[in-house]
Amino acid sequence: MQHGTVIGRTHTFWLTGLDARRVDVEAEIHSGLPAFRVVGLADRGVQEARDRVRSGLTSSQFEFPARRLTVNLAPAQERKEGASFDLAIALAVLAASGQLPPERTSRIAAAAEMGLDGSLRPVRGAMAMAEEAARLDLDGMLVAPESAVEAAAVPGLRVLPARTLIEAVDILWGAAEPATVPPPVPLPPARHPDLADVRGQPRARRALEITAAGRHNLLLVGPPGSGKSMLAQRLMGILPPLTRAEALEVTRAHSVAGLLPAGMLAGERPFRAPHHSASAAALIGGASLRPGEVALAHRGVLFMDELAEFPRPALESLRVPLQEGRVELARSAGRVVMPADCIVVAAMNPCPCGHLGDPERECTCAPARLTAYRSRLSGPLIDRFDLRVRAPRADAHGAPGEASAAVAERVAAAAERLGGQEIELTTDARELMDGAVRERLLSGRGAARTTAVARTIAALASADEIQPDHLAEALSYREPV
Ligand SMILES: [Zn+2]
Repeated sequence: MQHGTVIGRTHTFWLTGLDARRVDVEAEIHSGLPAFRVVGLADRGVQEARDRVRSGLTSSQFEFPARRLTVNLAPAQERKEGASFDLAIALAVLAASGQLPPERTSRIAAAAEMGLDGSLRPVRGAMAMAEEAARLDLDGMLVAPESAVEAAAVPGLRVLPARTLIEAVDILWGAAEPATVPPPVPLPPARHPDLADVRGQPRARRALEITAAGRHNLLLVGPPGSGKSMLAQRLMGILPPLTRAEALEVTRAHSVAGLLPAGMLAGERPFRAPHHSASAAALIGGASLRPGEVALAHRGVLFMDELAEFPRPALESLRVPLQEGRVELARSAGRVVMPADCIVVAAMNPCPCGHLGDPERECTCAPARLTAYRSRLSGPLIDRFDLRVRAPRADAHGAPGEASAAVAERVAAAAERLGGQEIELTTDARELMDGAVRERLLSGRGAARTTAVARTIAALASADEIQPDHLAEALSYREPV
């Protein structure tokens, strides 16, 4: 090795699941014919960083070393992808080539894509990256101003927004102050359809209100045209608004997934509605460890229309996330855990033709077809729907419903009550519950979930205890499918 070789070091991150993991970037210059290599399992996107870095450096009036340049990304066994390494690679090259003192880059992180003109662009997952930078106790993190909005939400980290490579270098020299972090702009909430549009359906409406107040899972069963999807879509309009902490959780996840415009914070609960052709990988995440629909619905609603039409493995993959509120994936690419605390609302026809139990039209399904249809949903999966309600054919002449705003008020009051105090079964209610378990109407898990629903019903009634009639109502929502 040639005398006086300097290694330029800095840090950046790659994303897996919903987390950012550290990447150490090292640049070294050797004598030899000009060449630029990036080693350490970098994918094509990272390889393309070479062109952007070369062009960004020269157009910013820095010198691109005319010798053999090697950039190493460690740990080398992790496959790294994306364009977020550009700035870190450029800084490491500047440090290795004597254009920046190496100690100015070695204790910071950089996460930005770079344009050919040296301008810096936001990256996916800036909040997750900032959390990791704070955990590693680095001195600061250079990002594009749009990414700074998210990164600045993480306590204990100095966020250094820079618009260009030149600005980033000036900040490291101490020759320029980092730009101010723009104030966060919450995405304006979408306008949700109103419950006032739903005529009739008192029982399904009531179930929807209980679902919203207690964050339960709801299964609506009814013939085509009974307004199941219409009801499910109106859940969004009655849920309590996101708390700040929840908004940050949603922002973090949706930023990693590239679902948020840069510089914006999540403004409302997510509503995810995967098509019934969705695979298990699409629902919970696949080999690439990218977040699936359940994780993207965290703190919001996962709506599964035509539940029985989903592939069986996809449905079964939901059992653990529904029970535990999180997804755990172990694949050859690694192991990740993602929060997935969402309300699941599902809708299905009672049979393939849709008219089983319909007073107006006869079911034409052969018994074997009916059995096959029902067997697509396993008992344990059905058991995870705390409320199972039959939605009859829509009544066009039914009374117009109460507006969402009024329902949302009751939901918010009940949710606050549930968060603030213990609401327990009265002695009479407990006897009723014990009887149901004795008669095998309920499993142990079923009993716990029914009690939770009864507690929500009590909270909606502003009661301090769960009375037998609250429990009886909760039991009435455990209809067989
Ligand atoms: Zn039928």
